[in-house]
Amino acid sequence: MFRERGINEIHSVLKKVDDPELPSVSVLDLGMVHDIHLVGNNVFITMVPTFAGCPALEIIESNVKQAVEDVSWVKVCDVQFTFDYQWSTEAITEHGKNQLKKHGISPPPENYHQGDEWTVECPFCGSDYTSMENVFGPTACRSILYCSACRNPFEAMKPVVSYSKS
Ligand SMILES: [Zn+2]
Repeated sequence: MFRERGINEIHSVLKKVDDPELPSVSVLDLGMVHDIHLVGNNVFITMVPTFAGCPALEIIESNVKQAVEDVSWVKVCDVQFTFDYQWSTEAITEHGKNQLKKHGISPPPENYHQGDEWTVECPFCGSDYTSMENVFGPTACRSILYCSACRNPFEAMKPVVSYSKS
């Protein structure tokens, strides 16, 4: 069936669209893609924004649009961000987390609750004997930490939880 094949094709395209602030982690692995809808040869994509006010959203939108419109049968791709759903770092896939680690960025903790102390494992040696060097990393969504075990500085993605969770 064309429709299903089409959606699968869009899926594989989105697997190659990376978040500009997180190298090698696709928008799909970040859990940002909420819905893909086809109407004839037009593609409508609904995405959940990651970090609120992340300046990369505009870039992501145009990268997604461009990548999808490069598919031969696609006429127009419309990308909308929805604020009806709240993204949390738990939406990141296992593959996405592994990609982060490969680039020396510690993935956000699982089952994190707002206000909890945040233990970060070193992406290089796995030790949790780490300390926060600078909460403001190179981008709004990352912090810089230092591992006391292997003496490497590394970056970590800040945990983001849905506000609905307490
Ligand atoms: Zn280490």
